Amino acid sequence: MSHSPLTRWIDTALAIAYPDQCQLCEEHPATAVQGYVCRSCHKSLHPIKPPWCQQCGLPVSANQNPNAPCLNCRNTDWQFNQARAAFTAQGPMREIIHRYKYDQHEFFEPFLKQCCLQATLLPSTAYTALIPIPLHPTKERERGFNQADRLAAFFAELFDIPINAGLLKRVTFTETQTHLSRSQRLRNLRGAFVCSNSQCEGSFLLVDDVMTTGATANAAAHALKKTGAQQVDVLTLARALPF
Ligand SMILES: [Zn+2]
Ligand SMILES: [Zn+2]
Repeated sequence: MSHSPLTRWIDTALAIAYPDQCQLCEEHPATAVQGYVCRSCHKSLHPIKPPWCQQCGLPVSANQNPNAPCLNCRNTDWQFNQARAAFTAQGPMREIIHRYKYDQHEFFEPFLKQCCLQATLLPSTAYTALIPIPLHPTKERERGFNQADRLAAFFAELFDIPINAGLLKRVTFTETQTHLSRSQRLRNLRGAFVCSNSQCEGSFLLVDDVMTTGATANAAAHALKKTGAQQVDVLTLARALPF
């Protein structure tokens, strides 16, 4: 059906009167303060709720022993102590993170900050510092920013933990690893990070946008543990489910 000039004129007038629209569904209103995500899209997110695996934080079934390692943790020697994520990396959350990271859709930031508020901190650890998982400098130059830095700033404010962004450095450049198996990724990332300080004693909380296989967090935790960190936990905004 073709639009008459009058309908087109009305559409344009409405767009000027109501420019605040959800950038996901493009149907409902959403303001800059909401990060241009409407209430109904916000409600369609999937927060991760307990019971979860005590180590990797994946949701587990209610009848599973919470202290036994989940299927994902069996046969994996994680370097981090515990990992937790606020949401599953599905649907709208996955799309927002993708567009934020690769298309520089920074208008989503107020929304991401609200989502960080929904994250649960790991049981009462007094962290020495919060560490955003660094990108390789080449990748950060290409992308223009490190999303983990921004999220770490939100978490630092929320939990009142200092940020130490210079402690960990990414020294190897890895192309996207989506075609690799988890064991290949774990192997590929070995030695990807180094500590800028030869003594890294303390408890650290690593922050990233998404945890997929856990290989990146594992390599980052390894570098910290190798130089003396007592505890390394991981907090991500979202978690890709392996099933
Ligand atoms: Zn929407
Ligand atoms: Zn697990």
